[in-house]
Amino acid sequence: MERVRFAPSPTGHLHIGGARTALFNYLYAKRTGGKFIVRIEDTDLNRSTTESEKVIIDSLKWFGINWDEGIEVGGPDEPYRSTERNFIYEPYVKKLIDEGKAYYCYCSEEEIEKERQESLSKGETYKYSGKCRNLTEEERKKLEEKGIKPVVRFRVPDNEPIIIDDAVRGRVEFNTNDIGDFIIVKSDGIPVYNFAVVVDDHLMKITTVIRGEEHLSNTPRQILIYKALGFDIPKFAHVSLILGKDRTKMSKRHGSTWVEQYEQAGYLPEALINFLALLGWSPEGDEEIFTLEELCEKFSLERVAKNPAVFDIDKLNHINGIY
Ligand code: GLU
Repeated sequence: MERVRFAPSPTGHLHIGGARTALFNYLYAKRTGGKFIVRIEDTDLNRSTTESEKVIIDSLKWFGINWDEGIEVGGPDEPYRSTERNFIYEPYVKKLIDEGKAYYCYCSEEEIEKERQESLSKGETYKYSGKCRNLTEEERKKLEEKGIKPVVRFRVPDNEPIIIDDAVRGRVEFNTNDIGDFIIVKSDGIPVYNFAVVVDDHLMKITTVIRGEEHLSNTPRQILIYKALGFDIPKFAHVSLILGKDRTKMSKRHGSTWVEQYEQAGYLPEALINFLALLGWSPEGDEEIFTLEELCEKFSLERVAKNPAVFDIDKLNHINGIY
């Protein structure tokens, strides 16, 4: 049974691209008789707001995209929230540190910036130097005494291939040599997205991660964490970008970018769902008008295109006119 999730960061409105990701996840869950989970990824405390969370949830509800599981505290109607799960992440961080797979790093932002500038001047891509990789207990104690709050970094192994067999993009290869030791816990003790997402997806038994292509570069880091924690790695499906008709990134010029703007403009949720489903996914045959139930029966990841989808407002208006 497939278990999928939509994991928005509450830092703005529900964007058309996010809405499509939510829809594809929902359709895939329904098609396979599985479960669809919503998890609010509010790991970035500076940018996350409760207003944004509300807007995103309201847009999902307007859309008719309901989740199957939620947290107990607020009742099943509440989605999961990363910040309420910090106590869950802690033991996993500790395990990595105890096993030498992660370490405390005391480098200041200025030091890191200096390293970055040095690589830049040599024309190299920046990677953390690994300065704190092998600190002794004694050295650590001294730094702690100075009151420096460390971050936790993941120790990236040398020269290992990471291969992703992506359900949309096909085989994608990375090498650990291109990845520097990266931060998994910030100096305030809060795990970053790349870490929280792995623990959450594992504990929530997510079988397929369907998300936007912009996250493909995070995937090798996440795979390293899966491996280090001894977790099974889920399947991945990275869905391509949505472009405007002029082939530039979808923006206000091409049409409203937030779901809520379509709601306010009087569009029917059924029409928007139908339209979004066809942004990147193509059904068999020529038909273009589908109810949500029909989409749930027909959707498949195999028919999701690798090329960017093109947003055409005329098509949406056409579909909306038929409903
Ligand atoms: N929180 C991420 C976002 O809003 C999604 C990450 C994911 O799906 O893994 O873009």
